[in-house]
Amino acid sequence: MSNSDLVNEAKERALKGETLDRNTIISLLQIDPDSEDAEMLGEAARTVAIAVTGNSGSVWASVGVDYRKCAMNCDFCAFGRKWGLVREESERTSQEIIEIVRRFVSHGARWITLRTTQFYGVDRLIQVVRDIRASVPGKYEIVVNTGEFNEKEAVLLADAGTQMVYHTIRLREGINTRFKPEDRIATLASVNSSPLDLAYLVEPVGTEHTNEEIADIFLTAMKYNARLCGVMARVPLPGTPLSDLPQISERRHAQIVAVTRLAAGYHAPDICAHPPSRLAVEWGANVVVVETGAIPREGEDCKTEWHGFGLDTARDYFTSAGYSFYSGREN
Ligand code: SF4
Repeated sequence: MSNSDLVNEAKERALKGETLDRNTIISLLQIDPDSEDAEMLGEAARTVAIAVTGNSGSVWASVGVDYRKCAMNCDFCAFGRKWGLVREESERTSQEIIEIVRRFVSHGARWITLRTTQFYGVDRLIQVVRDIRASVPGKYEIVVNTGEFNEKEAVLLADAGTQMVYHTIRLREGINTRFKPEDRIATLASVNSSPLDLAYLVEPVGTEHTNEEIADIFLTAMKYNARLCGVMARVPLPGTPLSDLPQISERRHAQIVAVTRLAAGYHAPDICAHPPSRLAVEWGANVVVVETGAIPREGEDCKTEWHGFGLDTARDYFTSAGYSFYSGREN
């Protein structure tokens, strides 16, 4: 089958409400990201994004709560204790988090994500969620991105005012991380059994990963009913073990985003590209991330938005690509 037929068939299947099978996903991932066929793939993904999202772009705003050494020592993460990048540990108070959340919400963030290192503690996180809900009114969803937890804790998170959990099986989980994949899967199952929605990006994608590996991690997201999917590129951070392996190009990133858009169809209506990329937005991503605080891709605690990418720039990415911007306000 030609790439043109492959892309058109994938688009039609997505628009009919199907998800794509592994072989089709791998074939789409094999398209050269620098080719004209990749442009066609991006256009098809953008068409599906219009149908699935109502042509609306939204911002995922993350607050890195604790800047801490983490004993799990993932090979791509700034917080790994062994890499020695975190010198002075710190942690944001509830009041500091509330101020950041207020700012993000007033500028139109749809999701507020509380990101912690692995062992922050679910009880403490529940209290932070309660504090935010008590102080910041508005139409926004709270997401937690933390360590492992069970079904009972998932329900408590939901009761406190959480709508979504970010959790994944990372690429080469158990090889470039010290986790047992089954422990991560147990948390995905806990989310699935709770009222919480799942957000799950294919991550952290680097030049070292095969199309088959990417397809399998994406299909795991679908298996656990991710409502928000997409692709996060690995950022080679000096001092971490994978820092010598290059970052994927923007076109390869956008291509994988486009494939996730076609492959997820209506099943994961929100598709995210991180780091933010205009091309990925033009090729079907309707979510970008604004983040501050403790960031696993950065060698220091960020006092402002990471790489200067804020809500106003995100809005410009979406409107320039022809999306409306979800601002949380009725307008
Ligand atoms: S990715 Fe998470 S678990 Fe791994 S070292 Fe970083 S904070 Fe710890």
